[in-house]
Amino acid sequence: MKRTPIVAGNWKMHGSRAENASLIEAIAAEFPAEPSAECVVCPPFVYLLEVSRLLRDAEVPVALGAQDVSAESQGAYTGEVSAAMLKDIGCAYVIVGHSERRSLYGEGDQLVARKFAAALARGLVPLLCVGEPLSDREAGRTQEVIARQLDAVLELCGAESFGRAVIAYEPCWAIGTGRNATPEQAEEVHRFIRGRIGERNAKIASEARILYGGSVKAGNASELFTQPDVDGGLIGGASLKADEFLAILAAARR
Ligand code: PEP
Repeated sequence: MKRTPIVAGNWKMHGSRAENASLIEAIAAEFPAEPSAECVVCPPFVYLLEVSRLLRDAEVPVALGAQDVSAESQGAYTGEVSAAMLKDIGCAYVIVGHSERRSLYGEGDQLVARKFAAALARGLVPLLCVGEPLSDREAGRTQEVIARQLDAVLELCGAESFGRAVIAYEPCWAIGTGRNATPEQAEEVHRFIRGRIGERNAKIASEARILYGGSVKAGNASELFTQPDVDGGLIGGASLKADEFLAILAAARR
């Protein structure tokens, strides 16, 4: 099965109007004429509209994603941003269930599944993050944790929903730590995720794109991305440096 890889940059709570403009300018200046992967950037909410304009002006084929979305459609939810609003300002993707949202803001599997459903309902592509904390990996519970996170979405939205979504396996112990999973560790979990979806729908499982995230850099991207079930990456720190990000993008090819 040929799957087009994706390289998505999660800018987290970084940037300023000036820094964003320089970053997009630097990405656009060296952007490949025929990229081997889809490319996405996910700036903070307040910068989405302006980054969308910068990308359009630079005529660079990079899609826009948000870092989170409300599970609710509209109403008295102070501080929240709906899927319809994200769609309205030109987002194509939205990250749901990032480990920082799960661990720092207490987002549980059911809420993440509702956010996933809200995104899909408005025509956004949810980028569902799953991943185990270090204590679970060390206790041999990696698959149990991933299965629980995945099953919440499978039960609410069905396996078919993964035909319109992307998954990112991001082991918590690899995010922002400089310690990436080995290619073998990543492949093992990616295969498990594909198999779990495949128990319900083999065709969707073979087509679903599963990204790896966790300390991906120019220097380790190739060995991770050449694993058979790894379809690109979700990139944090390295997505803030144009040359690193572009080198990672170039490493993603089928
Ligand atoms: C992330 O935030 O999704 C991530 C993978 O971060 P980093 O690449 O910095 O580990």
